[in-house]
Formats: sequence, structure tokens, C-alpha cells
Amino acid sequence: MANIELKNITKRFAKTTALADVSFDIRDGEFFVLLGPSGAGKTTTLRVIAGLEQPDSGGVLFDGAPADAMTTPERDVAFVFQQYSLYPTMTVFDNLAFPLRAPSRQIPEASIKERIGEVAEKLRITHLLDRKTARLSGGEMQRVSIGRAIVRDPRIFLMDEPLSNLDFKLREALRVELKHLQKTRASTTLFVTHDQIEALTMADRIAVLNNGKVVQIGTPHDIYDRP
Ligand code: ADP
Ligand code: ADP
Repeated sequence: MANIELKNITKRFAKTTALADVSFDIRDGEFFVLLGPSGAGKTTTLRVIAGLEQPDSGGVLFDGAPADAMTTPERDVAFVFQQYSLYPTMTVFDNLAFPLRAPSRQIPEASIKERIGEVAEKLRITHLLDRKTARLSGGEMQRVSIGRAIVRDPRIFLMDEPLSNLDFKLREALRVELKHLQKTRASTTLFVTHDQIEALTMADRIAVLNNGKVVQIGTPHDIYDRP
């Protein structure tokens, strides 16, 4: 189970109000898209949900419980940043293995290898597993970042424009793949984009954010097809 509720979140940075009384719910297993132009407050929303940013007022509930009282493992959130945050001197394999090798997990190396094999195949990075990530192209790094987030089956998946640095064909392929992955694993997903096509093709529901406020919320049909 992973319902996320944002309740009256306000977040200011000096003179900027990044989020102004933002409230919405993301349902368990939903693919929820946060759509809006640059500066709308999308990244700040993700950071608040991930616990990387404290709101000035309001709060986040995970399954009805205040998220700020939870430890990082309790939150069980995986985050794909727009900027890659891979370890450059490690191989792709070791980057993917990193979340699985946490001592608390005690996963046998053979299982790690098997799991990485599956994920690498889905993301078409099998041929890159032995390379250092510093030597990958932008699109390759982005696929490894997505892979690192999905290897450990998080309960909540937060993605900040994860397809924006990819070429058209790969973006289209990964759109389908991410959507498929999400449906088969039923992880609650919040996907941030400024791209309407991405929002339309991937979302169960969309919240449109502008100037730190939710201006529309609904299914793609509600938002695009109504007169
Ligand atoms: P988006 O992701 O939609 O582009 P952001 O959430 O990154 O929007 O930013 C919303 C607003 O808050 C912008 O005006 C941005 O400049 C400002 N902002 C975000 N983070 C900070 C920060 N750490 N310090 C100052 N201003 C910030
Ligand atoms: P986005 O492309 O989603 O708008 P940005 O590139 O604006 O994201 O922001 C990247 C990082 O920089 C985020 O962690 C955000 O909080 C921070 N940031 C954004 N705007 C500012 C700002 N005006 N001052 C300081 N930090 C900022």
C-alpha cells in the first residue's frame, strides 16, 4: 500500500513562493503526472514528498501517517533525478547493485546478478554493464539511473523528467516500458514533466501546476477532451 496525500503544502525560498497551499492525493498504484512549465514548483513538490525539503506549512501523509515521522527505509521512496547521480568511477553493474548491496538487505550476490540482468535487459543496457558510468552518453546514463531506482522495487517511485535527455525514439520506447513496469509492479509513481505528450500518454491522472498552485487535476480525458 502506498497512498500519498499532500495537505496544504506551502514552501517559500526567500522571496519566491515555490508552492502555495498545494493539496492533492496520489492513490495506491497510480501513475500520477505532475505537469507544468519550468519554475511551476514540480521539483520542489517531489523533494517535499521525498523528505529532502521541509515545507513551511502543511504536510505529507503516507497511508495516512505523517511522512516526516518516518525513517528513510520506512518511506521506501526511489528518486530518479533529472541530473544523473551515478557513481562515475564504478561500473554500470556496480551502480545498479549499489541499492541491493546495502548490508541491511543481505541479498546473495547470485540473486543480485539475476535481478540486474532482468532490469538491464528491459532498459537495453546489458552491453554496458562492465563500463564505467563516466564514459556513457547522456541517454545511457539516464537509463542506468532509472535502472538503479527500479532494481529494488520501491513502494513509491518519484521521477523528475527522467526522459528529457533522451532522443525521440528512445524516449518513446522508454515511455511504454516505464508505464508497463509500473503497471506490472503496481508501485505508486509520481512523474514530473513539462511535456504534454508524456503526460497524456502515461498518466492515470494529471495535476497541472502553475506558479506553485494546482490549476487542474483529473484524468487525461478530463483535462484535454472536455470543451
Ligand atoms: P519546476 O520543477 O517546476 O521547474 P521548481 O520546483 O524547481 O520548479 O522551482 C519552483 C520555484 O522555486 C522557482 O521559482 C525556483 O527558482 C524556486 N526554487 C526552487 N528551489 C529553490 C532553492 N533551493 N532556492 C531558491 N529558490 C528555489
Ligand atoms: P527544474 O529543471 O525541475 O526546474 P532546476 O534545474 O530548476 O529544476 O533545479 C535543480 C535544483 O536546483 C533543485 O534542487 C532546486 O531545488 C534547485 N533550485 C532551483 N531553483 C533555484 C534557485 N533559484 N536557487 C537555488 N536553487 C534552486
